[in-house]
Amino acid sequence: MATNVQILLASRPTGWVEESNFSIVERPIPEPGPGELLVRNHWLSLDPYMRGRMNEGKSYAAPVEIGQVMVGGAVGEVVESANPRFKQGEFVVGPLGWQLYSLSTGDGLMKVDSKLIPLSCYLGVAGMPGATAWVGLLEHCQPKAGETVVVSAASGAVGSVVGQLAKLQGCRAVGIAGGSAKCDFVVKQLGFDAAVDYKTGDLNENLRAATPEGIDCYFENVGGEVLDAVLRRLNPFSRIALCGLIAEYNLPEPLGAKMIRSLLVNRAKLQGFIVSDRQDLYMRAVTQLARWVAQGKIKYHETVAEGLRSAPAAFIGMLKGKNLGKQLVKLV
Ligand code: NDP
Repeated sequence: MATNVQILLASRPTGWVEESNFSIVERPIPEPGPGELLVRNHWLSLDPYMRGRMNEGKSYAAPVEIGQVMVGGAVGEVVESANPRFKQGEFVVGPLGWQLYSLSTGDGLMKVDSKLIPLSCYLGVAGMPGATAWVGLLEHCQPKAGETVVVSAASGAVGSVVGQLAKLQGCRAVGIAGGSAKCDFVVKQLGFDAAVDYKTGDLNENLRAATPEGIDCYFENVGGEVLDAVLRRLNPFSRIALCGLIAEYNLPEPLGAKMIRSLLVNRAKLQGFIVSDRQDLYMRAVTQLARWVAQGKIKYHETVAEGLRSAPAAFIGMLKGKNLGKQLVKLV
């Protein structure tokens, strides 16, 4: 007899997340009530924003409460439906949580085409991270052909799409990533023009060499010294999409930016954004990205953990940079 397995938030981390912050429970598979559907999840997405949801207090979204199923995007198959909008056998993506089976009212669920591209892509390159890259780069940075675009966490789910979109716009794409394997990957596999390993050598000097004509657009995923190094290289009227600050998610205090004066002297524009605010662009972004993936115009890589019980360790690993491309958990 199959049971549902769920991962709950057991305690709030102070500093780095530990596996003991989660608990794993087995429960009966729920029955859909009127208007509900039951989804058998195939893939779970692990994303940096989940670290923020483990904290108490106000942010752009409510925290997960202790004892609740961890929030997360998943893609799966409708196995029972009492909702006229969804049929048994259809595939859906949405906020289904860290669990094998999810009950849903259908709110926030999107049907996906499992024949166009692999299901897992709807959590990465043609899902929320891909849409984030699309909105931040194309909407907020508006790069023009010939300009230099720099992205940090360049080999990850969001960053790897940013650099490839920049290339499709005719820009010079430069990635910043941790380690030579990740730098090689973005240049040799994804077609970036250059990559800088922020963990080795002089970051300012290496970034200067990779951006001989300065930086026109910066897609910020990291913060701290990486941000300061980029601010030193800004061109006048440059644009920054402030997407994430992962270097400080597990620290007690923010890292800040010393070089903020560069924004003033270069008359730069910095736009913080949260992709879920841009429902007006989301469908367009994921539809276009899915098509480009199917056509081979956008490439992707996935790091896959096997089985739901491996999710806590894989999540901690992703926050520490163990992933290449999109971090997923295979559930089926
Ligand atoms: P990634 O797939 O890029 O995985 C996280 C990566 O962050 C790691 O692989 C690691 O790469 C890098 N990293 C971790 N710690 C540090 C550090 N101290 N300094 C520099 N790099 C570090 O994750 P995503 O692509 O899913 O997310 C990337 C960013 O985008 C995050 O900041 C996330 O919060 C943000 N985001 C924002 C959204 C929005 O709506 N604003 C939506 C989605 C994501 P490396 O080995 O290269 O260090």
